[in-house]
Amino acid sequence: MAKFPGIKGIFFDEDPLIEQSSKGVNGIGIPDCGLKKSDLRKDESAYIDSKYIRKNPPGLPEVSEPTVVRHFTRLSGWNMCVDTVFYPLGSCTMKYNPKINEKIASLENIKNLHPLTPANLIQPVLKIVYDFNNILCGLTGLAEFSFAPQAGAAGEFAGLKVIKKYFELKGENRKTILVPDSSHGTNPASSVLAGFTPVEIKTGKAGTLNAEELKKFISKDVAGIMITNPNTFGVFEKDIKKIAEIMHKNGSFVYMDGANFNAFLGNVKVSDMGIDLIQLNLHKTFSTPHGGGGPGSGALGIVESLREFLPIPYVKKTAADKNNGKNTSNYDKDFNAENQVYELSEDRKNSIGKMTPFLCNFAVLIRAYAYLLSLGRDNVGSVSEIAVLNANYVKKKLDEILSGSDPFEEGLCMHECVFSDKAIEEGGISTIELAKLLIDYGFHPPTVYFPKNIHGAIMIEPTETESIRTLDNFIKAVKEIKLKTKKSRAAKSPQKTKVGRVNEVLANKRPVFKS
Ligand SMILES: *Cc1c(COP(=O)(O)O)cnc(C)c1O
Repeated sequence: MAKFPGIKGIFFDEDPLIEQSSKGVNGIGIPDCGLKKSDLRKDESAYIDSKYIRKNPPGLPEVSEPTVVRHFTRLSGWNMCVDTVFYPLGSCTMKYNPKINEKIASLENIKNLHPLTPANLIQPVLKIVYDFNNILCGLTGLAEFSFAPQAGAAGEFAGLKVIKKYFELKGENRKTILVPDSSHGTNPASSVLAGFTPVEIKTGKAGTLNAEELKKFISKDVAGIMITNPNTFGVFEKDIKKIAEIMHKNGSFVYMDGANFNAFLGNVKVSDMGIDLIQLNLHKTFSTPHGGGGPGSGALGIVESLREFLPIPYVKKTAADKNNGKNTSNYDKDFNAENQVYELSEDRKNSIGKMTPFLCNFAVLIRAYAYLLSLGRDNVGSVSEIAVLNANYVKKKLDEILSGSDPFEEGLCMHECVFSDKAIEEGGISTIELAKLLIDYGFHPPTVYFPKNIHGAIMIEPTETESIRTLDNFIKAVKEIKLKTKKSRAAKSPQKTKVGRVNEVLANKRPVFKS
């Protein structure tokens, strides 16, 4: 049996950079620009309008390059990340991101591309966006994707705006979006932001939405349903086709929150389930580093009838396409100014409008594209197969340790499994204590206290990139914690981290950035 990774690293004491500052120290050398301060302030011939000129220096730390590098390199080791530990944070799909994606997104002519470069000079780049869209359409069975939304929740918002605009044009004023209680928290929030009223539907004991229950909520005021599938219990909505039929009969739409697409990738076309709109979180399923508020992409896919409403601009194939859509390998010949095949178009008269300053978070799209191409059509399905297998392995093994805590003991889960705190509570340990103790064992905690309708929820998403050795090790740690941990130690955990247990409420409300 493998050893727990544990935490025994070297921790240095670390002052904030601002306290390491010495006047005049500089990390970079910039050649003199030949301008004097007084030139800037000259009123009529000013290079910069005087109202924009600072009165005082910005108060940045004045430090050398090695000071900066050491500071951030050391700090990075105080935290957990997918490159160092197992990271089973439910609903977040913290899979390992292959480094090849990063390498391709960092190629000079991709990384340094100016977003205002004219379309005729970036034909290969526009081809990537166009082709990537086609791949996603192939994987989902939908008609087109927009890459304008820069996060999953932004994709939901855009999708709901599309629905709103559709009904406005029809002259119907439908105000309700149905949201089962098994949906992600962003779903009702996005509904409100888009100008709808979310109406909650309770799910049954099986953790899924019952089609008969849904019928009670149907009226001509219902614009659509937002359904997270697999839902936040990690369970497949098995009535989904019936649900879609009921909605369509009422002239309403089915929006699927597809952030959990890792459970389906390469094996399920959502069009077969009757889905009209979906957002795919490229930063989750399609292997882009995320968390910490970095750039994301909530690519919004729609059925043919909603195409005209998608955000602008978008990549369009022009009439000048002399290859008749055939792929060709001769980039130099095919991509020249005379033979412009792709353009950035704003030609969509019923578009919901612009959502981003330019086209999309391009580097996220490149990573996702590289990820899919490196897997290939034949292997892409193994992602979801192994993700589901791994989650069921963890569910089965933890069922034995946390007996009575599995709300859905019957049946299989999809990409993640959820437990209540019933079994650990009996041993005097709370969910938050289990989470903190796992850090000392060298594992990132699972998602905790979500979904809200499961008492003290512990939500585990192992993803497909983990080996059975890692999973066994994690299961063993949970077992040890449950059997051997005393309440007094649990309350003080984590103990091996640089910063121990913090008062979470105070840390949020009154953060202290200076030591
Ligand atoms: C992560 C997630 C979201 C939100 O995605 P963001 O990119 O964080 O906005 C929405 N729904 C589900 C099911 C998710 O897991």
